[in-house]
Amino acid sequence: MIELSFADALFTYLLLWILFIGILWCRELARVKNFDWKVSNSRLFHCDNCHHSFIVKDSVNLTRCPRCNSICIFRKQRNLE
Ligand SMILES: [Zn+2]
Repeated sequence: MIELSFADALFTYLLLWILFIGILWCRELARVKNFDWKVSNSRLFHCDNCHHSFIVKDSVNLTRCPRCNSICIFRKQRNLE
């Protein structure tokens, strides 16, 4: 039988806890990485003709409305703070 002193048992206990917390930490980091927010280049356009709002994936300043096919210009949003 393996004889352990109280200090060895306590050290092993703490080592196992640190290992367990490290595994949980790595798992959480991998999980957060998968569901992380990403900055997107898409822009929200608003058609002045038909008041239709739509998102364009590219970072363009000029596009056509998918509903009425009129030209829409991207305007910078005013800061509402
Ligand atoms: Zn439109």
